[in-house]
Amino acid sequence: MSGFLTRSRDLRPPREATLPRDQQQWNWQQAGRPAALYSARPDGTVQCHLSPRNCVIRPGAVGFCRVRANRGGELVTLNYGKSVAMTEETIETEAVYHYAPGARILSMGNIGCMMNCDYCHNWQTSQARYVEDRSVHHYTPEQVVESAVERGIQVISWTYNDPVVWHEFVLDTARLARRHGLVNLFKSAFYISLEGAKELCEVIDIFSISLKSMDPTFYKRVTKGQLQPVLDATAYVFDRGKHVEVSSLLVTDANDREEDAYRLSRWVLDRLGPDVPVHFVRFHPDYKYTQVERTPVDRLERARAIALAEGVRYCYLGNVYDHAATNSYCPRCGSLAVERYGLVASPVGLTADARCRTCDEALPFRLLARPDNAALAVVDVDDRDRPVVDHEWRGDVKAVHVEVTSAASATYEVVVRVLGGASDGREIKRVPVLPGAQYRFIACKSASDDRGVRVQLAPDVHANLYEVYDRAHFPTNTILEIEHSSDAVPEAAIRLQGGSRA
Ligand code: SF4
Repeated sequence: MSGFLTRSRDLRPPREATLPRDQQQWNWQQAGRPAALYSARPDGTVQCHLSPRNCVIRPGAVGFCRVRANRGGELVTLNYGKSVAMTEETIETEAVYHYAPGARILSMGNIGCMMNCDYCHNWQTSQARYVEDRSVHHYTPEQVVESAVERGIQVISWTYNDPVVWHEFVLDTARLARRHGLVNLFKSAFYISLEGAKELCEVIDIFSISLKSMDPTFYKRVTKGQLQPVLDATAYVFDRGKHVEVSSLLVTDANDREEDAYRLSRWVLDRLGPDVPVHFVRFHPDYKYTQVERTPVDRLERARAIALAEGVRYCYLGNVYDHAATNSYCPRCGSLAVERYGLVASPVGLTADARCRTCDEALPFRLLARPDNAALAVVDVDDRDRPVVDHEWRGDVKAVHVEVTSAASATYEVVVRVLGGASDGREIKRVPVLPGAQYRFIACKSASDDRGVRVQLAPDVHANLYEVYDRAHFPTNTILEIEHSSDAVPEAAIRLQGGSRA
């Protein structure tokens, strides 16, 4: 920390507490801080009002999410500032296509969830019992905001497991971020009370809502949540002028019927309107749902066709490559407005005020002025002095998190280049690594013929790579820990099921 950010006045002092011995599991669960949105009851229980579960929690116990606990008749949050590694990604990772296309974001994921979807892609962090101390990073609001500011990142994304259960830390940090001119993005299943949604509206600019289905029975059976509160909270933030995009993970043989696409499209149209983007996203087998294949692409295409036929103007497919349904087109003249390949986007057909360059139609995109470049003093390194890590894509796995750790005494840049194909050697990005720091960023396939990425490190800078199975997914296993025999199911899910790879 350089100290240029002042401590938020909203921060409350930490309050340490200890769980009864029989409930101790991980050290990260020991320290708690006062939580918001609850009522204390005369019998010593507390009722949490953050999510519609409204858990009544006995003294010494935790709620459904396992990150909010009753300590002496008060509700405390156990995950304040406790996080997976902050990671630099692009805004497309979060199923946000109409706000600052191509923008770099700083993704922040935490621990726990108010739901428990059988097919969760982030179960290793959303289900708190699987989160080991060695995976937990500790951040203050100041550290998060400074990391974004010093790197010229304009958007902080609250994402992965689910930010609902990180309420107090999100509010404190997002307030501070706003004071530094940053934008806050909330990627969530949004099973949240209206009280919680109201507080978020004070600080969040973009809501990317993961709507699981329009079937209440599906919600109850597969996600352990309820549909109606999700719809109510989504409509609430939309009515307050927030930028909203809706995505739906189409899970093979579970919620990928034509009827599902029709009902979801009708709700978006009737309640939010035709300009709210809808994303149908491809599923990969994971967690408890590994008995099926990935969602067939033709089912995603059919869902999109239904949405467009009903009147949705912008409907996209997610987790697919080499498909025109990832691009944005002007609905008036059909010109290409934003070109996308995987998680890489370029607003080639948009003017600075979000008009079609061909026909001048005003299009529903929000663009950000480019930031002043971050003022990090970087020491030059000759390419010949850079250790190199090559990584090749396999099957549907087309992105990696690169975690770099510096033992250097200077700030160096790590360079990422295309490996193979017509663009072999083209520079994709340069990422500064501060002395003694650890930093994580995404590198992904950027053209149909590239084979992988070449990561050029720097003296005393080392790298670990983590394969990313689809977007909005936080990988926890390094490539060294993964057996490369299949690209269909993450290794950890196989281990959870007690199975072995074919
Ligand atoms: S956030 Fe939801 S799941 Fe967690 S304790 Fe509160 S009501 Fe229960």
